[in-house]
Amino acid sequence: MIIPNYKTKTDCSFSRRTLLGAGSAALIWPFSQLPTATAASRRPLFQDFPFKLGVASGDPAPDGVVLWTRLCINPLDETGGLPPEDVQVHWQVATDDGMRNVVQQGMTTASADWAHSVHVEVQGLLPDRTYFYQFKSGDEVSETGRTRTAPASDAVIDHFRFAFASCQRYEEGYYTAYEHMAQDDLRAVIHLGDYIYEGSPKTGTPRYFAGPKLNTLSDFRIRHSIYRSDRLLQEVHARFPWIVTWDDHEVANDYADAYSHDPSVSTEDFLIRRANAYKAYYEHMPLRPSTVPRGPFMDIYRKIRMGRLLEFSVLDTRQYRSRQPCGGGYEPPCEGVFDPSSTMLGAAQEEWLKKNLTTSECTWNIIAQQIILARVDFSPQGAEEMLLSMDKWSGYEAARRRLMQFLADGRIQNVVTLTGDVHCNWVNDLKIDYDDPQSPVVGTEFVGTSITSRGDGNETRSSREGVLPRNPAVRFFNDERGYVRCEVTPEKWTTDFRTVPFVSRPDAPCLTRASFVVESGRPGAVRS
Ligand code: FE
Ligand code: CA
Repeated sequence: MIIPNYKTKTDCSFSRRTLLGAGSAALIWPFSQLPTATAASRRPLFQDFPFKLGVASGDPAPDGVVLWTRLCINPLDETGGLPPEDVQVHWQVATDDGMRNVVQQGMTTASADWAHSVHVEVQGLLPDRTYFYQFKSGDEVSETGRTRTAPASDAVIDHFRFAFASCQRYEEGYYTAYEHMAQDDLRAVIHLGDYIYEGSPKTGTPRYFAGPKLNTLSDFRIRHSIYRSDRLLQEVHARFPWIVTWDDHEVANDYADAYSHDPSVSTEDFLIRRANAYKAYYEHMPLRPSTVPRGPFMDIYRKIRMGRLLEFSVLDTRQYRSRQPCGGGYEPPCEGVFDPSSTMLGAAQEEWLKKNLTTSECTWNIIAQQIILARVDFSPQGAEEMLLSMDKWSGYEAARRRLMQFLADGRIQNVVTLTGDVHCNWVNDLKIDYDDPQSPVVGTEFVGTSITSRGDGNETRSSREGVLPRNPAVRFFNDERGYVRCEVTPEKWTTDFRTVPFVSRPDAPCLTRASFVVESGRPGAVRS
């Protein structure tokens, strides 16, 4: 890719230091017993409650999690309504929701250069345990979050339940799906991208806010804060650890590496926008400080393991990919679709993924990513020509086949992909060659619908009526909004498609529209 003459602000100003407290509870002050402020410092630090964006945790490990918050008294102001000074934040982790039995604590700096965001890597916790956490700054104390550490790497666990979601365009509806997700008994939530949308807000929608098409750091920060002000979204963040990755709309629609899909935007300008977008994304997500962006570069792909039961390979299918062939969009396949030099993951990430799959010691190998991996012919009923989405893996047929062939050759067991982006629910067989009915099924794909994007849904969509008959590898299609819940045991995987009948007003009920089962050792999902 082209590396522009981009002046990157070094991350030196960002304090990664967190002073871990002593492990003994006896040495630790509860917030209520902290030494009181001296007369000189008694002036309140904040004009208003500074934890308006809530709290979050993420990337669970056997010995800890990442804790996140961002000090912000005004979500509509780039600075969050705070002066341009660093602020000290005290954090605590306890075993009880009353925060009495504190087991870890420390101080960290909420740096003004990073929008007063806080990313604490807590260590020294026990595996597979529920913990509670809280932040304090000045006289203000945050709400209490709940989280859960991962099981020990070699632990044999009999089940793991999690949910995944994507595509939450704010103005298109209410986050009722999250209200229901919050009631589930989950160990983690996976977000597969389109956490924000960068376009100027649509009008005539159930919710509205004013704002531009995003370009500057200020634009991206304010958009994240508006989304993050939603109480239902905050509730799910405060209740479970999240494992997040992005898709295109965190930056720009259908972007590929250094290229905006908009031909009027130069690569240089686009990379400046990408740097702003990545920075604001980092500032608002419970990610490890090691993922901190360097200008327009931010390595977010990573592996998260849950004992011997399952391993998530979390992918980034935007930052390293070649440009979409055939001009993008939905097109009959042109030559570029089969170009062997085209890549979806970039060489380094592709090798990393293959290594994860080859060396995995887990029963289930999960690929958490953005775009449909199965080759789907989208042409409408009665059409003669095949229609492929050039933005999805089907536009990168050589790269797709390379990955599928690798699964077959390496006899990689129990591969399940979790996919977002497309705003509807699908279940797909993963195959090397979709034109050959004898081509074996090498894995299973669950595509989750949007939380709100596209607005109120229906069970079917007329423009998709040709999909099922044309694509025998597609086992299920549904066009309602919602989220997906997965229950995993050593013997079987169960996916529940949880749907809400409307998002245009609050309080929709939620039901399990369909459930699919994958048995260990037998790729392909069966409706139950
Ligand atoms: Fe989307
Ligand atoms: Ca997308």
